[in-house]
Amino acid sequence: EAKDHGGDRYFIYHGDMFQRVAHRVMMEGEVKQALAKGQFSLSLQPQLVAKTNKVHGFEALLRWQHPERGMVSPDDFIPLLENSEHMISLGYWVIRRCFELYKGMRDIGLSDVIIAINLSAAQFTDVNLQSYLEALLKEFDLAAENFELELTEHTLVKDIDKAIVTMDALRLLGFSFAIDDFGTGYSSLAYLKRMPVDVIKIDKSFVVGMLENHADFQIIMSTIAMVKNLGLTVIAEGVETKAQLRTLTENDCDLIQGYYFSKPIPEAGLFDFIGREIVDGNWKVFANSNTI
Ligand code: C2E
Ligand code: MG
Ligand code: MG
Ligand code: MG
Repeated sequence: EAKDHGGDRYFIYHGDMFQRVAHRVMMEGEVKQALAKGQFSLSLQPQLVAKTNKVHGFEALLRWQHPERGMVSPDDFIPLLENSEHMISLGYWVIRRCFELYKGMRDIGLSDVIIAINLSAAQFTDVNLQSYLEALLKEFDLAAENFELELTEHTLVKDIDKAIVTMDALRLLGFSFAIDDFGTGYSSLAYLKRMPVDVIKIDKSFVVGMLENHADFQIIMSTIAMVKNLGLTVIAEGVETKAQLRTLTENDCDLIQGYYFSKPIPEAGLFDFIGREIVDGNWKVFANSNTI
């Protein structure tokens, strides 16, 4: 269903309305087929504790190997599929795959980490989300504490009261929540106060120029201070240089994610990668890994 809600949608293509709708309908059909044909996979990007370089967990990032178009970026199809039933199916595929990967990691001796899963707005508001998650916890015999659910401000502001109810219920099960792309959406500090969240992710758009741009630097420092004062955990994404890492660490940023430590690791090579990087049960520094 190519439903259109006018103002609350955003489009990445600048063609006319007909082209946009046509493109979206085409994408929906292709996603359905791609799911059946196994063209989706996940890549996992490590999140490290800034002060110790221990691995805290991994963010699961969706990858679509399209037969003609090659690797399609999630930014090029996920926004188009919002509110589509296929995005919900795809989202459930992602969650199940994360459980499978977690079980695989546990089987090779790694169990003290989290996998962070991105949830689309459609998926977060889907009535079956909780029962689906509960069924997976039983099926895989895993704890909800092993998983963090990432939501964007865009998703949260749609219906704050309902979002809080959903989050409270899932947190009772043991899941934790991160606000992704923090500072880029329509958010206010009042909503931050009300949201039952655990982690704030500073968006990479602030990190990229943080050492050259005074405003970005101040925004990051203030965000870290605020998040810590609220008793929450703060993570910076898009950390690419040692200088950024050092500045963030010195200023009490808890967790680091970015190319400096590792690009997202394709799931096919994940267990090898983990096997190589564990020495005597401890994590080695991930610095300058060459995976894509
Ligand atoms: P995000 O959740 O904010 O994920 C972080 C993005 O930053 C990822 O892009 C990651 O590859 C990229 N990144 C990480 N470190 C660096 C760095 O040091 N430098 C640069 N330049 N980029 C870095 P990716 O994988 O292309 O994903 C884009 C977006 O697509 C994600 O942004 C997320 O919003 C969405 N997405 C990805 N997978 C899923 C999924 O399974 N479900 C949903 N609903 N959305 C997803
Ligand atoms: Mg994310
Ligand atoms: Mg993010
Ligand atoms: Mg981001």
